[in-house]
Amino acid sequence: MNYKSTRDSSVSVTSAQAIAQGISKDGGLFVPDEIPKITLNDIKALAGVDYRERAKFVFSKFLTDFSEAEIAYCVDNAYNTKAFDTDNIAELAHLFDGTYMLELWHGPTCAFKDMALQILPYLLTTSIKKLNSDKKVVILVATSGDTGKAALEGFKDVEGTSILVFYPDNGVSAMQKRQMTTQEGNNVGVCAIKGNFDDAQNGVKSIFTNSEIASKLNENGMMFSSANSINWGRLAPQIIYYISSYAQLVNDGEIKLGEKINIVVPTGNFGNILAGYYAKHMGIPVNKLICASNSNNVLTDFLKTGIYDRNRDFHATISPSMDILISSNLERLLYILSDENDKLINEWFDKLAKEGRYEVSQEVKERIFDEFSAGFCNDEETKATIKEIYDKYSYTCDTHTAVAVKVYNDYKSATGDTTKTIIASTASPYKFSGSVLSAIGEETEASEFELVDKLADVSKLAVPKSLAALKDKQVRFSKVIDKNQMKDYVFEALGI
Ligand SMILES: *Cc1c(COP(=O)(O)O)cnc(C)c1O
Repeated sequence: MNYKSTRDSSVSVTSAQAIAQGISKDGGLFVPDEIPKITLNDIKALAGVDYRERAKFVFSKFLTDFSEAEIAYCVDNAYNTKAFDTDNIAELAHLFDGTYMLELWHGPTCAFKDMALQILPYLLTTSIKKLNSDKKVVILVATSGDTGKAALEGFKDVEGTSILVFYPDNGVSAMQKRQMTTQEGNNVGVCAIKGNFDDAQNGVKSIFTNSEIASKLNENGMMFSSANSINWGRLAPQIIYYISSYAQLVNDGEIKLGEKINIVVPTGNFGNILAGYYAKHMGIPVNKLICASNSNNVLTDFLKTGIYDRNRDFHATISPSMDILISSNLERLLYILSDENDKLINEWFDKLAKEGRYEVSQEVKERIFDEFSAGFCNDEETKATIKEIYDKYSYTCDTHTAVAVKVYNDYKSATGDTTKTIIASTASPYKFSGSVLSAIGEETEASEFELVDKLADVSKLAVPKSLAALKDKQVRFSKVIDKNQMKDYVFEALGI
């Protein structure tokens, strides 16, 4: 299997090249040239094995240039109980009849980003070796909180790599900041910038595309790569947990083999829900993919009308990892739904860049309406939902997951659809203790760690070890720089 670029269908690279490169030179994203199929018999076989075996099976369909031993090396090193607090890697919790929470936050940083970022370093270093390169890979990340920490944990002390993370000084939660500034490892760097997330992201992008910086790295035996969700190496691992959870529901006798399910995903960059789309088209029986947004509801409007319009106010919400107006991975979906029409993709994304708006063709609209349903809710509704499921089911969920639950409840009332449903739960409630406690009606004037203790009292959920341990960790990174000093920071950190 090879990979094409969404902006130029004549591009054809191996999966190792797609992962090492991150993004195509024409600015397009890499997509597999076909979606590999799995049968109900395959799913039946997967029902009887563990997460690692399911992962190896799914990867073998996409990474056809990797050997079985290479895939096993990556999977076994990433998905184990050293990093995850459960040997199931992802947990399926029964919320209410026919509704299951797919808990994707049992990894080291307590957000679903770990599902991909624990394995990406292995996929990436294996890819680089396969390409006969001996370059050291330098990962640059701009983060609004979750991605930065998950990438740091994934890449720390991984031989042949360095990772540098930039975050907006006043744009992350206290716990997220603490997680990053205390990061351990000999190949890591963390730096705050005076500015917002967009400033950090623009700074990273301009370093990536600066040819002078690239040749300086090259002279020193280094190259840049990307750890954000435009990299296929981040998307492929996310397909696994949808297939795995379907197999698990069959194994547990919750559904019959072949029975359709719905999948609900709280969405920002459209990566996680796109992975659900791939799982469906590989062969797990899915009725609807339900896309949930917060007040930044550009995707809700798009999936209902076929018009993408980012010309609207940006809202800072209590589900900050979904505060986004440009969902990069949508480009992959549109490429597939337009039958790989790279001309149309260029046209639409040019319009997005110039006018902030585009409208897809009638044909693509119909396909979207057929597969997706979408909704959004505001902060007040998010909090009310946290309280409702806490009161009714003694289940404590984080703010992002609550958005998904609310949108699903609305969908159910509107359609009467009783199909069994998986809701992606994307973060531990401990990552957003303040908002969760205030939703439940608790006082929140306290330090981050006092809030964690309080949440433990009311939720009866074990405090994740990795978060509890932060309390005694030394702050290693306290540098705050101007946004135009990022390049100097990179050179200094790399010693070049
Ligand atoms: C990143 C993130 C999301 C959004 O996921 P996308 O793949 O960008 O759609 C949702 N919830 C949490 C907690 C996240 O960290």
